[in-house]
Order: sequence, then structure tokens, then C-alpha cells
Amino acid sequence: MIKTHAYAAKAADTPLAPFTFERRDPGPDDVAIDIAYCGICHSDLHTARNEWNNAQYPCVPGHEIVGRVSAVGANVTRFKVGDLAGVGCMVDSCGSCASCGEGLENYCESGFTGTYNGPVFGGPNTWGGYADKIVVKEHFVLRIAEGQELAAVAPLLCAGITTYSPLRHWGAGPGKKVGIVGLGGLGHMGVKIAHAMGAHVVLFTTSPGKAADAKRLGADEVVVSRDANAMAAHLNSFDLIVNTVAAPHDLDPFITLLKRDGTLTLVGAPATPHPSPGVFNLIFKRRTLAGSLIGGIAETQEMLDFCAKHGIVSDIEMIAPAQINTAYERMLRGDVKYRFVMDMATMGAAG
Ligand code: NAP
Ligand code: ZN
Repeated sequence: MIKTHAYAAKAADTPLAPFTFERRDPGPDDVAIDIAYCGICHSDLHTARNEWNNAQYPCVPGHEIVGRVSAVGANVTRFKVGDLAGVGCMVDSCGSCASCGEGLENYCESGFTGTYNGPVFGGPNTWGGYADKIVVKEHFVLRIAEGQELAAVAPLLCAGITTYSPLRHWGAGPGKKVGIVGLGGLGHMGVKIAHAMGAHVVLFTTSPGKAADAKRLGADEVVVSRDANAMAAHLNSFDLIVNTVAAPHDLDPFITLLKRDGTLTLVGAPATPHPSPGVFNLIFKRRTLAGSLIGGIAETQEMLDFCAKHGIVSDIEMIAPAQINTAYERMLRGDVKYRFVMDMATMGAAG
């Protein structure tokens, strides 16, 4: 067994604290990774605080993992010791259902095994990337190109794929007007990726102070979503809007911005439901309200390769693991530019 140092929540209402546990020794199909960096996703906070009512404790969050391979099992062919490797939100799936067969492990009919809090669909608990080591089945390990800022690649493993997948699925590209709602971890990746795909990108924010950053990141226009006049100027004009907001809010102001047959895709996952939409805003223009969950392994690799090719990484603020609780409070206030990443080499440092 592999002794592993981590940060864990022991209960919904207590701060994360140091926690030591043992990982399995790598089996024939496993890759063992020394974790260098782990991004902090809002889903980590939702889970650690049991906001989705499914948390298993102790809970070691973290699904934006990058590091170097420390050992491989006998059947492993794509990785060798010393290679860079990434792990996102999944570490297993049934492998035999229709969705898995199409490379959409994220929509596994039995439910994939999360990198942390695995028992959402049954099975034993899993512990994620707020840790110095992880052992993962090769199929769920991603290749990371050398020569990038490794810490800034980590958030691609969740924030990157969660925005890339709907942008690809609904055809973001030249000639398309695409909105991104919320400039947080997911939103800032959505802006960068949609821009690189060639779409006309409009960023919706509740924080007017983020406008200059949004333009720098690739937004063609910025709209403060609480400004009704600024919103009205975009009525009936969007092909696609990807909504990353982590809290319940009125969706109708965004649905009415869609053109006929346009789609509003929700990726943000608030703990309580949105109060809308009104049916008439959908039926009168055959608009679609949709959702999207991370992305499959093949698409995650495609996204990593796309980002490497276009020089896209996350804008990050680096912290030591001991600062995790402060980081959560700042993330809740929207006060992060634009993703916290933990440097696992500083695991023992004081907060
Ligand atoms: P984040 O960094 O906290 O960003 C959320 C952004 O939403 C904020 O920066 C803020 O942007 C905007 N916002 C507006 N009103 C808000 C409010 N009342 N409370 C919080 N945010 C508000 O979060 P994230 O890591 O990007 O995650 C966003 C959501 O996506 C979370 O619910 C997370 O669980 C979910 N998620 C879903 C998937 C999936 O597969 N579907 C994957 C990962 C995460 P402005 O300041 O610009 O308004
Ligand atoms: Zn995430």
C-alpha cells in the first residue's frame, strides 16, 4: 500500500484538515502518479460541504490533477515512469454500456466512478487530488504535453473539458455567437476555448470589475447581466449560451437572448433549483434548455491537445494545501483570478 498525505473534510461543517491514508499498490492496468498540482473546482466545495446531499466522509476532493508517473502496471502501454500525466473527474466506468462504447464514460449508464466521492452511484469511497499521490486505471489517465506551465494545465482536467465539450457539441466556431455566463474557473476557460474555436464570444458577468480581464482572455463583448438595457441589446441573437453559474438564478433573461433554435446549456450545478424558465420563452422560438456533464476520456484528450496547440492554459493563483479553507471562502465571493491551484510540494507548509 502507498502512504498518502492529503487534505480532507471530516464533516460538512468543519474545515478541511490534514489526513493520511493508503492508496492501493498499482495493479497490472494501473498508473501511479506523484501529484504535482491540483486545481480547486467549485464542485469540490459543493461536495466537501455536502451541498448536493451525497458526500461520504472523510472526503478528499480534487479532480484537476497533474503530475508525473511513478510506477506502471505490467499491462500499461501508454505511460512510463517519469511521464507527465493528468486525471480528471472520473477514475472508472462500466466499460460495456452504450455510452461507454461511444467513449462517453461521463454518461455511463451505471454511473462513472468519480475521482472522489465515488459512491454517488454505489461502490466504495474514492479519494481525489488534494493529495500527494494517486493510483488510477490507465484508461482514465490523460497524456499531458511537455513544455507547458504544468500548474496552469491542471484546471483543464475539469474546467477545460466541462466547457470544451458543450462548445464542441453545439458547434461553437466561426459565424456563431456564443455566450459564456460567469467568469470563474469554468467561465474563463469557456471564454478562451470558444475564442480559439473562432466564435464571437460574449461574456456575461455579475462583476463589472472583470470586464477588462474578460476581453484579455478572448471575449469580444462583455455584458453585465444585471443591466437590463445591456441585456436587451442582445435579444434573439445567440446560437449558444453556456451557463457556468454555481448558484440558482433566473434563466429567462438568458433564454430570451437565444435566437430561434438556440440553446442554453447549463453546466453550473447549484445546490437548489433555478426558479425558471418560463415555458413560453422556449416554445415560441423552439429554443432548447440543455445540460452537459464534463466530457468523455477521448474528448478530454482532444481538449488537452487542442489547448496545447493553441497555447491555452488556465489563469491561476497558486496556494499551499494548508490555505484551502481560505481559498474556498474567496471562491464563494468570486474572488479568484481565475482558478486556485494547490502546489503539492508545499503539502507540509503552514497556512
Ligand atoms: P466558480 O469559479 O466559483 O465560478 C462561478 C462564477 O459564477 C463566479 O465566478 C461568478 O462569475 C458567477 N456567479 C454569479 N452569481 C453567482 C453566485 N450567486 N454564486 C456563485 N457564483 C456566481 O465556480 P466553477 O468552479 O467555475 O464552477 C461553476 C459551477 O459549475 C459549480 O456549480 C460547479 O459545481 C459546476 N461544475 C459542473 C460541471 C459539469 O460537469 N457540469 C463540472 C465542473 C463544475 P461572475 O463574477 O463573472 O458573475
Ligand atoms: Zn470540477
